[in-house]
Amino acid sequence: MFRSLHMKLVLIMLLLITSLMAIVGAFLMTSITSFYIDEFYQQMESVFGDSSPSSGAFVSSLRQEADQAGSTQAGIAQQLQNMIEAKAGDLGLNAQTRNYYVLDGHTGQYLTGSADQESFERLQTTPNLLTARNSIAAGTDIVGDSSDITARYMDVAIPITGESGSFIIYIYDNRDTVSELNSQLFLIIVQALLVGLLISVLLSFLLSKTMITPIERLTEGAERVAAGDFSNTIAVESSDEIGILTTTFNDMASVLQDTLEAVENERNKLDTLFLHMTDGVVAFASDGSVLHSNPAVSQMLGKEVNFYDYDALFGQQIPFDQVMSLQRPDFVSGELTAGGRILELYLAPFSDGEDGGVMAVLHDVTAQRKNEEMRKEFVANVSHELRTPLTNVRSYAETLRDSEDIPRDMTNSFLDIIISETDRMTHIVQDLLTLSRLDSGRADMKMVRFPFREAIDSVCRAVDLEAKRHQHTLIRNYGPTLPMITGDRSRLEQVMMNVIGNAIKYTPDGGTIQVDAGITGKNVWMEVSDNGIGIPKQDRERIFDRFYRVDKARSRESGGTGLGLSIAREIVMRHNGSIALTDHDGPGTTVRIVLPIRQEVSEEAEHA
Ligand code: ADP
Repeated sequence: MFRSLHMKLVLIMLLLITSLMAIVGAFLMTSITSFYIDEFYQQMESVFGDSSPSSGAFVSSLRQEADQAGSTQAGIAQQLQNMIEAKAGDLGLNAQTRNYYVLDGHTGQYLTGSADQESFERLQTTPNLLTARNSIAAGTDIVGDSSDITARYMDVAIPITGESGSFIIYIYDNRDTVSELNSQLFLIIVQALLVGLLISVLLSFLLSKTMITPIERLTEGAERVAAGDFSNTIAVESSDEIGILTTTFNDMASVLQDTLEAVENERNKLDTLFLHMTDGVVAFASDGSVLHSNPAVSQMLGKEVNFYDYDALFGQQIPFDQVMSLQRPDFVSGELTAGGRILELYLAPFSDGEDGGVMAVLHDVTAQRKNEEMRKEFVANVSHELRTPLTNVRSYAETLRDSEDIPRDMTNSFLDIIISETDRMTHIVQDLLTLSRLDSGRADMKMVRFPFREAIDSVCRAVDLEAKRHQHTLIRNYGPTLPMITGDRSRLEQVMMNVIGNAIKYTPDGGTIQVDAGITGKNVWMEVSDNGIGIPKQDRERIFDRFYRVDKARSRESGGTGLGLSIAREIVMRHNGSIALTDHDGPGTTVRIVLPIRQEVSEEAEHA
């Protein structure tokens, strides 16, 4: 119940007011009592003088009365009464609260007084009375005027000793006045307390409203922020500490929102990266189960990795404990093959302790390895292709140098071989250079618009003589309606020349070579068919590879380098076209070239 700030405030106010009133009340009541007692004894002193030996004038006159010879005790007592009555005003005598008694000095018996004997006998024998009686018994005049703030009365006993007897003048005040005063004061304090409590309750409600309402608004705001809702700021309605707190809270919420947005952006970036990266990434928990994985991993391994654990996936390559025992940033690497792919595996622990685990990165190196293989094969091929003519040149040159009596015609034939081998090497080096330029993109294509038909005609005219030399029949089977195309004319003619040249080379003399051409959609095509030796099925895929030749001896014999079709494919691809063998019935070979009529990019540039 008292947990809310509101109730606590009310309770504090109530306790404060109550304790304050209690202290003030107690202080006031004690002060009043003390004042009253002091007042009583001052009055007594002013009438009777200071304590023994009593020397006040009034006491002396009382003693004189007691000295009168021949008077009876009752007579003297009467006289004394009269004298005290005369001082009643000074002594503050009052029938209800303050009375005087004239007593026998020796026995303490009631002789006369402002109250009757009965009321005197109801009084207890007080220390002051005893002091006065003892003083008379001892023949001295000691006044009993000691006071006690806790007593329920105040009194003073004055011994009067004379020739005719001893008396005690005893003044007794029952403190009813002060008690009544205190009761009234108490009543006032209680009333004031009640009013004070009421006011304090109202005040504390008011105070708590002004303090607690902004705190409640802050609490609501904090709850909204905790739930991720940053849409509202809390209104600042004061410039006090709570106002400053509200402003600070709004600032904090805005910074928090910015930070969260930045973190979210970073996470999105990382998620996108993780999702689309070509390397496979998979994180394992400390028990070896899969925590996260990107699609590339499952693709590379050819299975859904989330259904497996570390041991099933990479346990054979590197044990899990070995990876976990590494200290960051150390890592271990391995290699595995899956579905014909060669994968490099990198493993590293990503954190220490129980929350840690292992991060695995898979890198597909199949293409890289294949490239390396191709590169090695290429270098071996180049060396081989160059070594053969070089060996020939060297051996014929040595023979010419070492033999003196070689007939002239033999010398000439040796020199012819040397020249032809040198040409061959030049041819190979030129082809390699062309390929290298095409590979590195340094070979610029001079794109122009030219009639496709004219290009084919000019190539056919160029090879006509060679065809005739081999008694081939060259059939041109294309109409006059071929369009203009965009391309590097001389390079495309080189491609056509190579394909028709091959048909001539690889067809036994007297064969038929047919050149067809036409349009399909946005492309033109050209087909070169021969009825020559053909290409076996197993070699068909590879004849566009560098240095690949079906029959090496025959190719070399006819001056081929094994690079012609590779160059042709590179050129056609740079024109966004295609070159391939077509399946057909019967012997011979058909090569089909397809080229776009327009080259999108280059023509845009031309028009620009
Ligand atoms: P080459 O300089 O040896 O002719 P190419 O790259 O032009 O090199 O051709 C590669 C290989 O493809 C040739 O060696 C040959 O074995 C085969 N080839 C190409 N065209 C034909 C064809 N029309 N008939 C038979 N084989 C061919």
